Amino acid sequence: MNAEIVCVGTELLLGETLNTHGAFLSERLAAYGIDVYHHVTVGDNQGRLEDALRVASRRATLVVVTGGLGPTGDDLTREAIAAVTGRPLVLKEEVLAAIEQWFAERGRTMAPGNRKQALFPEGSHVLPNPNGTAPGFVLEWAPGRWFVALPGPPRELRPMVDGPLRPFLERWAGGRARLVKRVLRIAGLGESEVEDRLADLFARQGEVTMATYARAGEVHLRLATKASGAEASSRLDALAAEIRRRLGVHVYGEDDESLEAVVGRLLRERRESLAVAESCTGGRVADRLTNVPGSSEYFTAGVVAYANQAKVLSLAVSPHELTAHGAVSAQVARAMAAGVRRIYGTHWGLATTGIAGPGGGTPEKPVGTVYVAVEGPGVGRVERHRWRGDRDTVKERSAQAALFLLYRALSGQA
Ligand code: AMP
Ligand code: MG
Repeated sequence: MNAEIVCVGTELLLGETLNTHGAFLSERLAAYGIDVYHHVTVGDNQGRLEDALRVASRRATLVVVTGGLGPTGDDLTREAIAAVTGRPLVLKEEVLAAIEQWFAERGRTMAPGNRKQALFPEGSHVLPNPNGTAPGFVLEWAPGRWFVALPGPPRELRPMVDGPLRPFLERWAGGRARLVKRVLRIAGLGESEVEDRLADLFARQGEVTMATYARAGEVHLRLATKASGAEASSRLDALAAEIRRRLGVHVYGEDDESLEAVVGRLLRERRESLAVAESCTGGRVADRLTNVPGSSEYFTAGVVAYANQAKVLSLAVSPHELTAHGAVSAQVARAMAAGVRRIYGTHWGLATTGIAGPGGGTPEKPVGTVYVAVEGPGVGRVERHRWRGDRDTVKERSAQAALFLLYRALSGQA
């Protein structure tokens, strides 16, 4: 079995809506070991849609069509699938009743167009849509050849794929080995440094494939293998252990766990608290930390101290130090971290100060020069970085560097 995904909607071709279904469906199909060979996007035009479906149904055994199941005149998917498969559209009374009820429950009158959402190519299996009026359907139009139609809105399509479509995916997957994935999250190294340190592993990847993705201030290394659950886990464990041995502290987490979540977990385990003093990051470090549910257990305060005066008044940085070294200096970064820690009585203090640009650089301290500092029980560390990029990039990288510095201090690897 191999699949093709056909996304329908003129808004996708005009760039008004980002096509997220292609990625979502590919990821799900891959998880079931079903190979996807083509993605096609086509507008709300009957002729071109039928052409696309005809081509797809010739070269793929499973064609997944998204969008165009709505009630309006430009929603043509069910008509096009009927035309291509030669299956006439038939009304399903129970679906019509369900749609009528959907409107009645909301105190709304049903538009005449909604009636056509109860029409399905003959022989279709209906996929209920709990979040909207447009049901989807699955049609085996010739032996071993399938069409699946799903509605466009992501909040309707996604639960349908993970709900009513699931038994079909299981069936199509058969005994086929699933693709099992693990993502190692890496901070403090660039993509090319990661590839360089793992060059021989990349060169001889076999049962487990490896790929890197550059993300904001970090690298994600995806390991994937096709095998049954236990076999897949043991293969991934073995390779992950080797990669962790080589990259050490840089591998801070796995899968969906963010750096701020890992830092939060470490603080919670140690029953310790944190306060943050930010200059150039303007609150981003505090923002990321407080995005983690339950952060109130360990996050005490964040101070954005931008002007020198604010660093003196809110963080008790000495005016002498500011004059002697400048606000962007190792001394001031450390004084900010120590100040916020002392004022709020926390175990840890974390600070950022730098020149986000585009103005304000000097030969000694060019734009992108940033200091991050951490102060904690028996630990005091400061780092100088030099980021390239626009203001937003400098702020983002600096927040990341601060969190990574704290992570290393917390895990005893500063
Ligand atoms: P439709 O089922 O064609 O009525 O689509 C309804 C809405 O779903 C559209 O207005 C889009 O906002 C959204 N949508 C349709 N196709 C996609 C897609 N491929 N990716 C993300 N959103 C989509
Ligand atoms: Mg549409």
